[in-house]
Amino acid sequence: MPLTLDGLVIKQQSGFFTVQTERGAYVCQLRGRIKEEAARKRRKTAGDPTLNLCAIGDRVTITALEDRTGVIEAIHPRERVLSRSDIEERGAGRQEREQIIIANPDQAVFVLAVINPMPKPRGLDRLLVMAEKAQIPSIQVVCNKIDLIPREEADTLFALYRRLGYPVLYTSARTGEGVDELRALLTGRLSVLTGPSGVGKTSLLNAVQPGLGRAVRAVSRATSKGRHTTVHRELIPLSGGGYVADTPGIRTISIWDVEPGELDAYFVDIRPFVRDCAFADCTHAHEPGCAVIAAVERGEIDPGRYESYLRLREEIENSYEDWV
Ligand code: GDP
Ligand code: ZN
Repeated sequence: MPLTLDGLVIKQQSGFFTVQTERGAYVCQLRGRIKEEAARKRRKTAGDPTLNLCAIGDRVTITALEDRTGVIEAIHPRERVLSRSDIEERGAGRQEREQIIIANPDQAVFVLAVINPMPKPRGLDRLLVMAEKAQIPSIQVVCNKIDLIPREEADTLFALYRRLGYPVLYTSARTGEGVDELRALLTGRLSVLTGPSGVGKTSLLNAVQPGLGRAVRAVSRATSKGRHTTVHRELIPLSGGGYVADTPGIRTISIWDVEPGELDAYFVDIRPFVRDCAFADCTHAHEPGCAVIAAVERGEIDPGRYESYLRLREEIENSYEDWV
């Protein structure tokens, strides 16, 4: 007798989805009807219409068969998605499409090192915008290698993010400092964890749980090699509950589907000043009566954060012109 079960998609590879249920994992394919509906809706657009139908992090209902395989009958509505834009060259034109990286992430964990490599705050700002855009409820900054410099020195850079409301956790995979706190943060949640290479992500995750870092890294390598048709994505389970994913796509993400004016909302420190600008369509770059520029001059907005804002705004405006 086939069973109907609800579960979580924990792995996707070449059209196969591994679904974790209370009765174990099943390797599933999508019911043909789901694909046909998607194809009908997206007939006018290019590319594989099934690409974003189902992703890791999706909650689904499956028909489970005896041989541990199954069929995905329904994909439950998503609370949120983290996606990237995917540029497709078609003849003379370029087309930008959404590519879902992960569905329903609870938490974003951005890992940097306090030194070796030197932290790049502009890169962090870009990740924070992405997490704000996706409305990820918990955003966590982790600064590793705190064994290498005094905490006060690290604070000159990272206290700013605390003031903005982003919790900052100092860790050391070497001494074990902060590792229990990180484990507690990850437990029971679906976290996307990312950061530049060399900051100690693998070492930290191995400290959280033996083998965890290696497992995450292996998937991350497979994903970066994959082309659209063979994308391999996977959530790595924590022994205390919850999952971690490192998807390399996040690191090179372009800010998908953000309109230039919308960016204001994703800078928590710029957002409060915008309503006082003289012009409703102020770009905060040069306009007279700009309340954002005034706040930067008064020292109420960090100049580095303002620079990040201008850079992202320019990037968005350029890509916007390309494809509108
Ligand atoms: P990943 O690329 O982010 O996964 O970084 P790795 O975990 O591979 O670490 C990169 C290098 O930094 C390795 O040589 C680690 O031994 C070293 N490393 C990682 N964590 C720490 C730490 O907390 N303190 C110090 N001093 N070195 C660390
Ligand atoms: Zn302005």
